[in-house]
Amino acid sequence: MTDCIFCKIIAGEIPGDIVYRNDLVCAFRDINPVAPTHVLIVPTRHIADNNGWADDDGPTAAAIFTAVREIAEQEGIAENGYRLIANTGPHGRQEVPHLHVHLIGGQRMQHPMG
Ligand code: 5GP
Ligand code: ZN
Repeated sequence: MTDCIFCKIIAGEIPGDIVYRNDLVCAFRDINPVAPTHVLIVPTRHIADNNGWADDDGPTAAAIFTAVREIAEQEGIAENGYRLIANTGPHGRQEVPHLHVHLIGGQRMQHPMG
């Protein structure tokens, strides 16, 4: 997707602080972190949002959760825990239309979001 900012980060066309990548997923630090750890995990294939999964994307969906587990270990937040958020569509206040999971941690979150 030529106009997608996250596709450009994945392709190395614009800078991104990439912390994890394989064929299926890429993860980089959020440019505007809300906590000590704030990483975005995205599929390398452009999928706009959670409505865009194809039937054969199961391995990619699994790879996102595997990435979450491994990045949490890397960041030293696995034991204390963290929050995952996947804003979807206008009601979900999704701003970047490339599916992403926010991994947020390193502090105790406000309840229920924050
Ligand atoms: P959304 O509201 O779509 O769930 O979240 C989009 C996230 O992408 C926001 O937290 C925002 O800070 C982050 N973001 C927007 N543009 C960029 C960018 O160019 N680079 C990085 N690393 N993060 C971005
Ligand atoms: Zn994209």
